[in-house]
Amino acid sequence: MEIRYQSTRSRGETVTASQAILKGLADDGGLFVPSSIPKLSASLEDISKMDYKETAYEVMKQFLTDFTEEELKNCINRAYDGKFDTEEIAPLVEKDGVYYLELFHGATIAFKDMALSILPHLLTVSAKKNHISNQIVILTATSGDTGKAALAGFADVEGTSIIVFYPKNGVSRIQERQMVTQKGSNTFVVGITGNFDDAQSGVKAMFGNKELAGVMDGKGYQFSSANSINIGRLVPQVVYYVYAYTRLLAKGALKDGEAVNFVVPTGNFGNILAAFYAKNMGVPVGKLICASNENKVLYDFFETGVYDRNREFILTTSPSMDILISSNLERLIYKIAGEDAKVTADMMAALAGSGKYTITAEMKGQMKDFVGGWAGEEKTAAEIKRVYGASGYVMDTHTAVASAVYHEYRERTEDTTKTVIASTASPYKFATSVMAAIDKKYEGMDDFALIDELCRVSGTKIPNAVEELRSAKVLHDTVCETEDMQKTVEKILGLN
Ligand SMILES: *Cc1c(COP(=O)(O)O)cnc(C)c1O
Repeated sequence: MEIRYQSTRSRGETVTASQAILKGLADDGGLFVPSSIPKLSASLEDISKMDYKETAYEVMKQFLTDFTEEELKNCINRAYDGKFDTEEIAPLVEKDGVYYLELFHGATIAFKDMALSILPHLLTVSAKKNHISNQIVILTATSGDTGKAALAGFADVEGTSIIVFYPKNGVSRIQERQMVTQKGSNTFVVGITGNFDDAQSGVKAMFGNKELAGVMDGKGYQFSSANSINIGRLVPQVVYYVYAYTRLLAKGALKDGEAVNFVVPTGNFGNILAAFYAKNMGVPVGKLICASNENKVLYDFFETGVYDRNREFILTTSPSMDILISSNLERLIYKIAGEDAKVTADMMAALAGSGKYTITAEMKGQMKDFVGGWAGEEKTAAEIKRVYGASGYVMDTHTAVASAVYHEYRERTEDTTKTVIASTASPYKFATSVMAAIDKKYEGMDDFALIDELCRVSGTKIPNAVEELRSAKVLHDTVCETEDMQKTVEKILGLN
């Protein structure tokens, strides 16, 4: 069955998967959603005998129906290769009574690699299919991890260039170093004086700017997005939920049809939305537990049905979740509004205007799969220390938010459903905060000394992504005011 994509904000024309990947965002500012979420065609039992790449094909072919088998398999083979430091690609580790789904074994050691190692290939195939001759300019806002993963994915990919905006004072030191040392003649990295929401709004404004698009086209350029609003990010993320479930099935840890809970440390709502899509594809899922840090706009939303971004933006030790406008939530809103684009558009207009919207009781009733939770800074640090003490397992700050939220949920509800926690970053990426959580004596120590110490206490190998930073040269030092993001892009591309 052909799946076509339409905007969450209007019932206009539909596009193919490859066109949706190329455009990133719909013309009306909405997000592309599939006409319906397809079901898996192979049984879970059969998928449990497949490896990661085969599972990826089974899942992705259902969504990307205008890709040929050969095209899609080529993309998959190029993405999930030796860039990952384990053949399992996404290993499931049982510790302390739960399963941690480690999504950080790719080139930049955060879960963004799961989708961003394949997106450049999906995009170049999509460009060919649609006879695009313009150079594709990937414009990306990052809260720290997307930026590096996208830079690594697109570096020196023919026919593309990539510009990344990050909040200058809102990412970890290792995250910043990873980005500003990026090689590749087509890569550009810019720090902005604002926060992540400012970066994301600035990027969205450029996508919606028709005049700019015209000037770009005249010079042989067009924008696309590597942010999780791109359906080409979302679809590869569905894969590892299917994979996690079927690994448990293969191990005999689950009975036929037994449900699992997924706990996801959440920012832009992309990762957890992929789990929701996996459920809709036919994976038996109990609860989807949405874990937030102190920027707990989503927790409040699940509690009250009111989304309200009018609050202080808090910088935390889990910076990739420091977000007050969770873009992908729009796709859930659309679904729970009965796929009503008008209702969705009105709510998004209210969000853009007053910073707030309220869903109806009926819509709230459609969200029973989701449970919100949040953990503050102290709880998060305590969870890192607790799990390390109990099992020797060292987790990063984002995973720790999810882990803390889960344990509180389990105590409160006595829900003993088997549970998988999405482990979204390597502890090496956030070594400063992780080590300080384990022992106060590490506070204030040099980053690389802490990395060596983390290696010692965890007994894990230092990832190459970190090792190579020790000697890497800084290649990008552009900083701009939030208002000047477009001017910076015009300068980089030589538009005027
Ligand atoms: C991006 C990111 C998140 C948040 O994921 P969303 O899809 O934006 O909700 C959580 N943890 C880490 C380490 C990340 O990089």
